[in-house]
Amino acid sequence: MNTLNQQYEEKVRPCIDLIDSLRSLGVEKDLALPAIAVIGDQSSGKSSVLEALSGVALPRGSGIVTRCPLELKMKRRREGEKWYGKISYQDHEEEIEDPADVDRMIREAQNKMAGVGEGISNDLISLEIASPNVPDLTLIDLPGITRVAVKGQPENIGEQIKALIQEIITKQETISLVVVPSNVDIATTEALKMAQEVDPDGDRTLGVLTKPDLVDKGTEESVVEIVRNLVIHLKKGYMIVRCRGQKEITERVSLTEATRREKAFFNDHVHFKILYKENHATVPKLAEKLTLELVLHIKRSLPRLEDQIEKKLRETQAKLDSCGSGPPADAGERLGFLIDTVAAFTKDAIGLTTGEEIKFGDRLNIFAILREQFAAWKNIIEHFGIVFNQNIEREVTQYERRYRGRELPGFINYKTFEDMVKEQIKQLEGPAVLKLKEVADIVTKELFKLAQSSLVGFPNLIKTAQIKIEAIRKEKEIAAESMLRTQFKMELLVYTQDSTYSKKLGKRKREDEQFLASHPLKTVTWSNDSGATLREMIKHLKSYYKIAGQRLADQVPLVIRYQVLQESVIQLQREMLQMFQDKKITEYLLQEDPAIKPERIHHQNRLKRLSMARNLLTEFSMNTYNFNQVHRLDPNIGKDTAAHSLPPPHKNPLKNGRRHQKTVQAHKPHRS
Ligand code: GDP
Ligand code: MG
Repeated sequence: MNTLNQQYEEKVRPCIDLIDSLRSLGVEKDLALPAIAVIGDQSSGKSSVLEALSGVALPRGSGIVTRCPLELKMKRRREGEKWYGKISYQDHEEEIEDPADVDRMIREAQNKMAGVGEGISNDLISLEIASPNVPDLTLIDLPGITRVAVKGQPENIGEQIKALIQEIITKQETISLVVVPSNVDIATTEALKMAQEVDPDGDRTLGVLTKPDLVDKGTEESVVEIVRNLVIHLKKGYMIVRCRGQKEITERVSLTEATRREKAFFNDHVHFKILYKENHATVPKLAEKLTLELVLHIKRSLPRLEDQIEKKLRETQAKLDSCGSGPPADAGERLGFLIDTVAAFTKDAIGLTTGEEIKFGDRLNIFAILREQFAAWKNIIEHFGIVFNQNIEREVTQYERRYRGRELPGFINYKTFEDMVKEQIKQLEGPAVLKLKEVADIVTKELFKLAQSSLVGFPNLIKTAQIKIEAIRKEKEIAAESMLRTQFKMELLVYTQDSTYSKKLGKRKREDEQFLASHPLKTVTWSNDSGATLREMIKHLKSYYKIAGQRLADQVPLVIRYQVLQESVIQLQREMLQMFQDKKITEYLLQEDPAIKPERIHHQNRLKRLSMARNLLTEFSMNTYNFNQVHRLDPNIGKDTAAHSLPPPHKNPLKNGRRHQKTVQAHKPHRS
């Protein structure tokens, strides 16, 4: 017994304590913690089992008595220590003086949460009990599964209850304790079906058979087979218990007396005696098994828990960042804060429009988009050139009539050339202005996004910045459009440096000759007079268009970048900083979004909670590691079925040993 006690203190306690500490940090709000949930059909004996385990009378009676999930946290105290109880739900918390008050207080809590009557609620009632007579366990009692609604109950009460049960047992962290009366056909019980749905292999399902005293004569052996895990196999197996029947309750048989009677019942039973011998029967054995299962489950859940905490920490930190830091309360510091915030924003805006890296948001790279836009612009120029030439070629027979003046064949009319060039280039004006508007749209949108992320939490500031961005955009767009239109007016002058033109034309001619040499058929169609003149004309047109096109391919993006990007953000910066001269305006701008402060506090608290949880886990795994190193315990402690084995001692409960010290220290017990 002594060694068992010692092992209990060293192995079981720290695990249960760890989860308790996590719970008291409130980590349950962030992620699910390992727990045991009790499920079963109505009147299958759930509350009786919990009562027997906890030693306190819980509400019972006909109809749905358990109407909210009840979390029963039991803590074993040392021999001779006082009984302690506490009930908490929503914002209510109350210590319980007398175990006899528990029943009434739970009913009161249920009435508050689920309303007086027969309704149910998903909100948790938490009952904490510490005493030398309880095991270290946390169990969740759930409403029993019913099929038919009785008077005063909502029609879909059955569905509601199932949904509530499902929500809890679906979690990987939950062990389902399925309570089934021995005198019903286990294969047809709804509770077992539900557990099997969410846990098909039965990895985290444990069966508990109740009411063995009510088994029909002659069917005892089939009950024995079920408990021996031979009928519906569950990896965690089955236990069988006998609780107080209605008659014993009416006669006020105490729980201690009930425990004695239970032992005697199994010991004397012709059929069930064997189950008792095999450690499959009685409430105390169930308590032992549950504690052990919970500990195993906790150990197995730790790596997942650790991962989840890390993930939540990262998420929370990101959310907290997105809340911003909020303005200082001190009047003197407020202006400074505003200046810093706005300066950071305008710096980012400049960074954005000059293609430098910026701090906020998901890395907006506006230049990647602009490059595409400007490349598209160059494609438009090329496309128009090709279409234009094709049109002229198609008009080859019309050429004489439409374009030829008084010149002799073979001469090119410069005026005709100029007119054609002008016509060609003029076609680009509309698309150039459209491109400007398109890019201005993109830039404005990105600046809006930037304002939203840089100035997060200050709606007035965001609004003001966005109004300014929009106004400046209009102004700069007009300026840019006028520059573009001027450029196109200048293009009507038809000019380039002589040397540039000669070079282009020479190159064009060489290319044409090569082309014709390899396409003799073309030479025939083109060899009449007007064909030759046209060919000559096209050479000139192509050469000049190439030059003018190159000029515009650069010039238009330059104008857009200059006005829409560079000048816009410089003006934005100037205008934003000018606002600080007015004290009233600065206060207006500093008004924080009323929703963001509570959100920030919420994330801060969560962050604090999770960091502490991580520390607890790290400390725990270090101690366990050292402990296993020193003691090399028999892995079969407490083993009574195959499903019961502890993880081999060399296998650390946490994934990898990166955080564990290599030096072996003596294990410090968690509780003194
Ligand atoms: P719940 O609805 O699942 O919580 O079921 P209860 O715990 O309220 O039990 C339903 C009825 O079965 C009660 O009258 C209990 O006294 C009775 N009961 C529970 N366990 C046993 C048992 O092992 N033997 C007998 N004879 N009756 C039991
Ligand atoms: Mg009940």
